[in-house]
Amino acid sequence: MAGKVQTKKTQSKSVKEKAASKAAQAKKVQAKNAQNKKDYNDVWVIAEQIEGVVNEVTVELLGEGRKLADKLKKKLIVVIAGSEISDVVERLMHYGVDSAIYIDHPLLKEYTTDGYAKVFSELILERKPEIILVGGTSIGKDLGPRIAAKIDTGITADCTKLEINGRNKKLMQTKPAFGGRYMATIVSNKYPQMVTIRPRLMDRAEYEKKKRGEIETIKPKLFKKDIRTNLKEKIERENKGVNLIEAKVIVSGGRGMKGQEGVELIQQLADKIGGVIGCSRAAVDLGWLDYAHQVGQTGTIVKPELYIACGISGSSQHIAGMSQARHVIAINKDRYAPIFSLCDYGIIGDMFEVIPAMIECIDKYKKFEF
Ligand SMILES: Cc1cc2nc3c(=O)[nH]c(=O)nc-3n(C[C@H](O)[C@H](O)[C@H](O)COP(=O)(O)OP(=O)(O)OC[C@H]3O[C@@H](n4cnc5c(N)ncnc54)[C@H](O)[C@@H]3O)c2cc1C
Repeated sequence: MAGKVQTKKTQSKSVKEKAASKAAQAKKVQAKNAQNKKDYNDVWVIAEQIEGVVNEVTVELLGEGRKLADKLKKKLIVVIAGSEISDVVERLMHYGVDSAIYIDHPLLKEYTTDGYAKVFSELILERKPEIILVGGTSIGKDLGPRIAAKIDTGITADCTKLEINGRNKKLMQTKPAFGGRYMATIVSNKYPQMVTIRPRLMDRAEYEKKKRGEIETIKPKLFKKDIRTNLKEKIERENKGVNLIEAKVIVSGGRGMKGQEGVELIQQLADKIGGVIGCSRAAVDLGWLDYAHQVGQTGTIVKPELYIACGISGSSQHIAGMSQARHVIAINKDRYAPIFSLCDYGIIGDMFEVIPAMIECIDKYKKFEF
């Protein structure tokens, strides 16, 4: 009996010792990783370019980056990787940046995850920016997390709003969570604070005639063996002439279109008002329209002046793609459809009656337009 008690005591002692040594180890790691906020400075925008064409999101990031840098009284620096693109870098200097870093290497001519992640992460570790903004594009969503992992920091993907906390000057990173039902605000406990930002949400930077700072060109150490992929061929994605991103007017149809007849109807309305056709995922899944038309969380995020939703219920995933529209008109048979809680004008009715009536009205109105 006494022997048994002794064993228990010995066991509990060794458990305590283990816990203590674990805690000591954790403290050591913490101390090693401890970051002094003062070491981290400036706001970086990682610019995105393909064959020398800068993605629009870069200009939006520069607009947002400028605001953050001004609030923190820090510099805004645009960082771009590529080869033979000095003219592109030169142009970026006119979008309110304080300076630019051009990572120039023949192996960076085409985007590769390995090549780009290597050169960016090495530079970040050396220069220690406080905030890094990356576009929420296919490339940005691939590159951002790779860099974050390499430099051992966190990243908040798909942010829709950024603010600086007035007290501790940390970056408050807001993004939709649970399929858009909630908005979550995330604060990093590590530096740099990294985010990807949804395209078409932030105000773009204005082109300024005068440029502010200088371009620093860096020639990184990069070898073929650092890049595990080999680009053999590029195939252009066929977008069938749909440009939802640029569209000022979008007429979108959902399951309520019933089929091709409904698609033709919304096309007629779109043609009348110079709009582009969008749709819900249901319409794509049913094979009525191509994916290029899909608006929403897994489709295109749009920001038109006018969005007309016809026979669309207004799921959170659909709303995630069109809530930035300036004016929304919804046509739905169901007065309780969620889309009505978001729209500016709601028409309760059958789209097969409402749309022809709208077209008639537009024709009448146009007769008096002189
Ligand atoms: C991970 C994930 C990602 C997703 N991504 C997207 C996305 O990017 N985009 C997207 O749209 N969805 C997305 N979805 C699907 C989404 O959840 C909904 O299923 C979809 O949006 C529903 O499409 P809908 O509104 O056309 O169809 P429904 O929800 O079926 O609504 C049809 C509406 O039409 C109305 N209606 C029917 N007949 C008529 C008529 N004659 N006249 C007027 N109104 C009529 C009905 O009252 C109803 O409100 C996603 C889902 C998941 C799980």
